[in-house]
Order: sequence, then structure tokens, then C-alpha cells
Amino acid sequence: MKWSIPMGRVWGIPIRMHLTFILLLLWIAWLGWTVDGLHSSLWAVALIISLFFCVVLHELGHSLVAMRFGAHVQSVTLLPIGGVASMRSIPEKPYQELLVSIAGPCVNAAIALALMAVRGGYHALDEQTVFPTSVGSLADALVNANLILAAFNLIPAFPMDGGRVLRSVLALFLPFSRATALAAALGQILAVGFVLVGLMTNPFLVVIGVFIFIAAQSEDKTVRMKSLLRDVLVGDVMVTDFVNLHPDDTVARCLENVYHRKQEDFVVEFEGRLVGVVARKDWLDALHRGGAGTSVGDIMRKHFISVVPKTPLSRLYQDLWHLKQGVFPVTDEGKLVGLLTTEDVSRYLMVQAIQQNSKAGAHARPPGDQPSSRFTVDLG
Ligand SMILES: [Zn+2]
Repeated sequence: MKWSIPMGRVWGIPIRMHLTFILLLLWIAWLGWTVDGLHSSLWAVALIISLFFCVVLHELGHSLVAMRFGAHVQSVTLLPIGGVASMRSIPEKPYQELLVSIAGPCVNAAIALALMAVRGGYHALDEQTVFPTSVGSLADALVNANLILAAFNLIPAFPMDGGRVLRSVLALFLPFSRATALAAALGQILAVGFVLVGLMTNPFLVVIGVFIFIAAQSEDKTVRMKSLLRDVLVGDVMVTDFVNLHPDDTVARCLENVYHRKQEDFVVEFEGRLVGVVARKDWLDALHRGGAGTSVGDIMRKHFISVVPKTPLSRLYQDLWHLKQGVFPVTDEGKLVGLLTTEDVSRYLMVQAIQQNSKAGAHARPPGDQPSSRFTVDLG
């Protein structure tokens, strides 16, 4: 996530803090100051930092269970509205998603129970005190906050945890994309509710509502796209008629092919070996910087991923965009047999969407081409 700073790693997962989180800390410190000067200001900051420590534990709860099911957790980022765990290849079996989603709120419930055990029971907060004034009252405030975190996250506003639980339960009886569409629709209705309630009470709720609305829409779209790609293999959509480049070729050679052959992405071969890829963005950047005389060997990406014709596109779908590689060489037993680009997949999706919609008698709506990464949304 842009504008975030690294805070360390847990189980290999980078923990990051969004810069806007510092604004929240400053705001809280100032609020504390207006209550009772420096003393109150420090306790207010201590409360927020320990609360967000609980949010990180919540995200790590999701992450640990997801990793046990083979997911790759890219990062956990702290935002002023809560934490976000970015995951790739999250397990989609309904019971796995159920366990991953429920793990976060369970962590908060466990923290609350542990703190209550230490404090010898539940202590209601004094309504007069805005911020804690001792370690004991800080612990009591955290008990309350963790109970609220667990309960709030279980509201079925997809893609919040409760919404994911709902989707996974629906997916036991319905196709995955149908279950997602229903959960996302309910998520968006609840998101509008959050915004309306937030406008009257708490601006953070407005931000969370907008975030959920957009996230629900984007995840629903990703799932629909992936369902269109089910049973489609790389070999079905790859380009088989293409020109290769040599490292000594120049960007001018790319341009010739762009104009005369409409080929915009290339692989580079040297003595029969695949040594690099050049996507449209690469030669466009080179044109900006050094002109058409720049050699292909200087601009090609030397680290790239190749795919095989039998790879299912649904498995590649997110990597295609997130790796920003633009073009993927397709090899069969070490031999180059095709090229796969994000445009090829977008074109296929557009045709499929039109065919499906015309079957349903509805107007065709071509899909956008940018899938979202999957994440969990949590309140802080
Ligand atoms: Zn969560």
C-alpha cells in the first residue's frame, strides 16, 4: 500500500503503518491535551497504540489461519480506520474462508477474556472519564474496545469478517459467485447504512462505509471474472503468431511491429534461450527517456514468470495484473509456444461477459480489467 512505512515482520509478514495513522495519533494526543494536559494526552496515545496492537493481532489471527490453508499474506497495514491484511491466493473452500474470517474476531474475544481474567472480571467504564488514567483503567478500556471490535467485525457487511462468514455459509448451498453477489449486495446496503449513521454520529463510520461499498463491488467483480475464467486454459487464449526480439534490437524495432503487426508486447531470445520480456510500458518508458535508439537488452525485464499452456487462467488471474509484467511467455517442455498478455485475458473476458449477458437477455457490460487484491477490512 502506498504511503505506508515498514514496522517489522511477524511470521515473515511485513507489518506496515499508513502515514495517515500518524495524523490520528496527533489528533488523539491533542484531544487528550484538551481534557487534562500532558498526563491525559500520554494516556490517550497509550490507549490508541495498545488498541491498534490488538488490531494487528486480529489481522495476524486471520493471516495465521489463512497461511495454514496455503494462502500468501503480502502485508498487514494499519490505517486510521483499522487494519487491512492483503492476501493472495486466499483459500476459497467455504469452510476454510469461514475459519479464516472468524479467526480475527476470536482473537479480540480472547484478548478481552484474558484481560478480564487479569482484572478479576468486567469493570464498566466510568462515563465521566474519556481517557484512562492508570494501567488498570487502560486494561478495562481495552476489554471494552476488544469486545466492540469482535462484535462490529461480525456485522455481515461483506467484505468485513461477518460478511465473509455469511458468504462462506451461502457458498455451502449456492455457486461461489452467486453467494458472493448476495453477500456483496447486503454489504453495500449496510455500507450505505454506515454512511447515514456516520453522518450523524462518527465520521470514521462514513469512511468505513465508503470503503466497504467500494471493496464489496470490486471483490464481487473479481469473483465474477474468475468464474468466467473457470475451465479456461492459458493455451486457449494465448497469441501464437508473434515476433521475438534480440537483445541488440532497438525500440525502433518494437515500433515497427507495433505499427505493422499490432504486436505491443515481446519476448527476447538470445541464442535460442528466453532472456527477457518487454511489455508496452517498458518501450513507452524507454521512448520517453532515451528515444527509439535504446537497445532492447537495456530495457527488457530479466526477472519474469513463464507459464505453460495447461495453466488454468483463474489461477493466474490476480498475478497477471499484480506482477505488472504485462506479457507472459508460454512455454511447453522448454519451447516457446505463445505469449499471454493482460489484454488477451481482458478481451476474452469481454467476449464471455457479452455472450453470458446476451444469453440472459440483458445488456452487455464489459468487465474492467483491474482485479482487486483480496483483503479483510477491520475497524480500529
Ligand atoms: Zn477481521
